[in-house]
Amino acid sequence: DITPVPYIWKNGSLVAWEDAQTHVLSHSLHYGSGVFEGIRCYENDTTHKSYVFRLRDHMERLARSCKIAAIDLPYSVDELVEATLEVLRANNLKKGYIRPLVYRGYGVMGVDPSGAPIDVIIAVWPWDAYLGAEALKHGIKVGVSSWRQRSNNAIPPAVKATASYMNSLLAKLEAKEHGYAEAVMLNEAGRVCEGTGENLFIVRNGALITPPLSDGLLEGITRDSVLQIAADMYEAEEIDVFPVEESLVRTDLYIADEMFMTGSAAELTPVASVDGREVGSGECGEVTAALQKRFFEIVAGDNEDYADWLTEV
Ligand code: PMP
Repeated sequence: DITPVPYIWKNGSLVAWEDAQTHVLSHSLHYGSGVFEGIRCYENDTTHKSYVFRLRDHMERLARSCKIAAIDLPYSVDELVEATLEVLRANNLKKGYIRPLVYRGYGVMGVDPSGAPIDVIIAVWPWDAYLGAEALKHGIKVGVSSWRQRSNNAIPPAVKATASYMNSLLAKLEAKEHGYAEAVMLNEAGRVCEGTGENLFIVRNGALITPPLSDGLLEGITRDSVLQIAADMYEAEEIDVFPVEESLVRTDLYIADEMFMTGSAAELTPVASVDGREVGSGECGEVTAALQKRFFEIVAGDNEDYADWLTEV
């Protein structure tokens, strides 16, 4: 379901989409040794200006992932920011998805990656709502997965590594088999972590709660954005719940007043039910709706207060 565009940025230059190939003996294809990012750009419906959301923050996370994965990233964050703008402009893509990938390429085999070249690509393509437009309005059904999130000592969740997504894939397929749109993964201690490609939040007892990073989850940029937006809205008395990072267990989800998931792909998607139990009214909650509205205003460039989160294309 990818719609091709003319160019992909690869190792410093633009190459034709169909020529962006890699050898079947590329190290990362065998050992999952790559790291990547997922970013969105948005077009303002009125001004038709296009903005990338928190581009530098994503590239900084990519650099952190490289550091953890012991990859010597051959480009600076600034160069990757420029390269992203270059590939968006070359493709005349005003809204869509951006996928930077740093992988160990062709040259050595075996688990020790020493000597494998580091290849870097930035691909862009048009991508609508990840979980569907209906999901953004009315919420999704989710189920707690029998697959556990890895601990901080095994394929650390703090790295956005290609290898991590075997786990997400298993949880996602299981969720689908059970009729759910998305899975919630717990860690081995039974604490709630995240979705297969999203962080999560609940509203309960006057608080907006998301699990702490120490429970083993990706440091989501949308998660961070929501924490900041919610603190600002609470201060401005636009919402009456204060954001906190606190561990959650499975049953906290069942009795939450509201729940939603966040991600660059999933944006801010309400959760209608967990394991068949309606969350609140089973519709998008009030706080969720207010945060979602503000989020979409911000990404479209309609809120000056957060202008520094946007990079104009
Ligand atoms: N957790 C996982 C496992 C993810 O893949 C993602 C998507 N990158 C997220 C959380 C959300 O992170 P972000 O908001 O930075 O996209």
